[in-house]
Amino acid sequence: MGQIVIDPNKCKACYLCVNECPKGLIKVGEKLNISGERVVEFDDSSGKCIGCAMCAVRCPDLAITEVYR
Ligand code: SF4
Ligand code: SF4
Repeated sequence: MGQIVIDPNKCKACYLCVNECPKGLIKVGEKLNISGERVVEFDDSSGKCIGCAMCAVRCPDLAITEVYR
């Protein structure tokens, strides 16, 4: 099991992580960050995050931090 934290103000809205997550847990959200970018959100309501860190590795802006639980 894993969990991630996304720093919205580091996110540049490239959406690479959206396609990278094998469980489809990262989605384009409704909120804008301080740069006016529509940032991504992590939806862990299904509890399916496997802590693979593929999203964090893929993010070119180091906006995703993985937190194990
Ligand atoms: S890969 Fe990083 S910068 Fe790109 S949308 Fe995801 S969190 Fe944002
Ligand atoms: S750690 Fe893996 S399963 Fe969890 S959100 Fe990132 S890519 Fe998806």
